[in-house]
Parts: sequence; structure tokens; C-alpha cells
Amino acid sequence: TDGRGDVSEPSSTAEDGRSAGDPLLRVENLQKSYGDETVLRGIDFDLDRRDVEVIIGPSGSGKSTMLRCVNRLTEFQGGTISLDGESVMAMNENELRRRVGMVFQDINLFAHLTALENVTLGLRKVLDMSKGDAEDKAMSQLERVGLAPQAASYPAELSGGQKQRVGIARALAMDPELLLFDEPTSALDPELVGEVLEVMRDLADGGMTMLVVTHEMGFARRAASSLMFLDEGKIVERGPPEQLFDSPERDRTREFLARLT
Ligand code: ADP
Ligand code: MG
Repeated sequence: TDGRGDVSEPSSTAEDGRSAGDPLLRVENLQKSYGDETVLRGIDFDLDRRDVEVIIGPSGSGKSTMLRCVNRLTEFQGGTISLDGESVMAMNENELRRRVGMVFQDINLFAHLTALENVTLGLRKVLDMSKGDAEDKAMSQLERVGLAPQAASYPAELSGGQKQRVGIARALAMDPELLLFDEPTSALDPELVGEVLEVMRDLADGGMTMLVVTHEMGFARRAASSLMFLDEGKIVERGPPEQLFDSPERDRTREFLARLT
């Protein structure tokens, strides 16, 4: 079962409408178009706390759009996305962005700020922390991604892998409940991919809930609790990575994975 039946049953529902059994993230019949072009055609899935979902699919299948719907970087036309039982549409955007962090393919650090300042910025502006507290917190996040020695470096002085790790530290600094990754290693030189995946594996092992678009199947095998194959705006198949790798139910999944690995 997919546990959906719980929703309509009053059994353990608290007064605020949430229940202890709510998944961290619930996506129901998500539909999204850009003008005439339908991009997401009814996406349904739940993500429990501490789960790591890896999303794969051809270019243009809607992977980035789906992530962007989750933290409302883009609007959607149909369906519901809930975080801990609460619709993201009803949430204050700042609150949503604090609870759901995102790491992009393009490493968008501020060039005129040091690594530390890049991480501190959101803490100061969004969380209104004092300079000292923000710096302490930012420093501990840089340590977490192995970049404390580079705290005073500017982006131009960092490798692509180091910049991406600063991006991860910046997202972590907000204490997100869910982290979204959109092809975090796709823009990196091959020799720099490993250090970023290692940080992501550590986060996964530490219990971070993650939704990760990546074609790094070594990471998927090692870290994913579930693998989702998206094509033409629909989930073609979803299951434990070993199942999709070793005995996919759909030919399309087999063919796509054969090209990746
Ligand atoms: P993926 O990340 O799987 O490659 P995307 O979610 O980026 O796919 O894109 C899905 C479809 O939506 C593509 O056909 C793309 O051209 C279209 N699309 C994405 N972003 C926009 C946008 N801002 N405006 C119009 N169309 C878009
Ligand atoms: Mg994309």
C-alpha cells in the first residue's frame, strides 16, 4: 500500500490537521504547464523523513520543474504538495525556503563575498542572526563539508567542487528539513565529482531527507532509499535502486538505465 488511505481517516489526526504518520513530503497529482506545454502530468509520491529519493530521466522530462514546484520557485496548476502535512501553497515563502533547501547545478555564489560570507548571508538576512552567531554557525557548516580552511577564500579562488560544497554548506546552515539537489555535479570536471558526492553521502548517512536529481548511479546505489524514473512528466517506475537496476518492470526503465551505466 502507499499509505494514502490515512489521509481521509480521522484516526490519529491532531487538531491542526497534521498526523504523526504524515510523510515529510507528499506530492499528489502534481500538474504543471508552461503555456500550452504540459510538463508534469500528475505526479504522486511520498517521501518519509531520512529518505533519499534519486530522480532520473531524460532531458526535458520535468525533473527540475518538479523540484522547483516543491519550494515554489515556480507555480503549479494542479495537485497538492505538502510538507509535514501542510500545503506549501499556504506557507510563507521565506518559511518554506528555510525548511526546504536547494542546491543547484549552477553554483551561484556571490563572487564578491568569501565562502564564509556566502554562508552567513542567509543567516543574517532570513534568520536575522547576529554577525557573531551567524559566523559561528556558518563556520561549523563549512567544517561539515570539509572547507573550514577555505572560509576566507573568494569563489574565484575555489575549485568547482569546493564551490559546490560551499553551496551545500549554505543550504545546510538554515537547518532545512528537506534538501533538494538539482544535478549538483553535472557542471563539474570529472575529478571533482567525487568530493561533492562524498559530502552528499555523509548527509544521507546522517539522516538528511533528500530529493536528488542526478545521473550518478554509484551514488544512487549507495545512498538512495528509492529511485524514481521520470519520463514525459510522469513517473514511469519507482522503487528501491536495486530493483530498478536489477529487475525493472518497464522496458523504458531498463533502456534508460542501460544508457546511464
Ligand atoms: P529536466 O530537468 O528533466 O531536463 P525541465 O523541468 O527543465 O526538465 O523541463 C521540462 C520541460 O519544461 C522542457 O520541455 C522545458 O523546455 C520546459 N521548461 C522548463 N522551464 C521552462 C520555463 N521557465 N519556461 C518555459 N518552459 C520551460
Ligand atoms: Mg533539469
